[in-house]
Amino acid sequence: MVGYLRTSALRSGSSGNSILVSSDQSSVLIDTGITGKGLACALKDLDESPDKLKGILITHEHCDHISGLGVILRRYKIPLFINKDTLKAAMPSLGKFDPDLIRVIYPEEKIQIDDLEIMAFPVSHDAAAPVGYTISSERGSVGICTDLGYTDERVYKALAGSKLCYLEANYDQELLKLGSYPLRLKERIASHHGHLSNDESGLACIRLLEQGTEKIILSHLSLENNFPHLALLTVNDALTNAGAKEGLDYQLTAARRFDVSEPQEI
Ligand SMILES: [Zn+2]
Ligand SMILES: [Zn+2]
Repeated sequence: MVGYLRTSALRSGSSGNSILVSSDQSSVLIDTGITGKGLACALKDLDESPDKLKGILITHEHCDHISGLGVILRRYKIPLFINKDTLKAAMPSLGKFDPDLIRVIYPEEKIQIDDLEIMAFPVSHDAAAPVGYTISSERGSVGICTDLGYTDERVYKALAGSKLCYLEANYDQELLKLGSYPLRLKERIASHHGHLSNDESGLACIRLLEQGTEKIILSHLSLENNFPHLALLTVNDALTNAGAKEGLDYQLTAARRFDVSEPQEI
């Protein structure tokens, strides 16, 4: 088998989210919660040419996912793959850009961007029409699944066989309960339209391993209600208790918040 499928989180968390997935021929950016300058530096750090960027995929319109979108569309003129409701909700914050860049996509429809096959799948989150993505090449498939209140069968079906998955581990239940957030915000985060806790993420990881995932990157960790070592410990414990062995059955890492994470390949 030739070529590679490589990925790196450029930013991860409520301050901004953006993930790059690239083959030797082309690359796509999932979410643009990063400044234009931040993206340029990240691509340089990763030795990835901006000319390889063939599409931007958006999960949902929350500002930590689209804050750089307008600038990046104007600067790089890359096609924007987005569903109708998310586009409508995002439009007011994008400023002017070439409307010919818009490609409307639909959940569970497979689309081809160069050598990459993309599929969006719906998730439960308090946004217009939030989705996760799978990005596949002949090397296999990468799944991206953050900003969701719970994992349902649609999610597992979409992620089945993805060798590498970005999975949200947003908060520790105790830290959220004891923390300073207003009660309403705590309830929103813990609801079915909020985010996954470390415990929920651990349970989801057991299922992902059962269906073929080998590498998991915990993502979108809360700054206030989580710590990377705590998220890793909680999920590792869940997987160990389920009989899986780290290093043998799976690799587990956490995406960096403010910086480019170590690239991973499948
Ligand atoms: Zn988010
Ligand atoms: Zn969100």
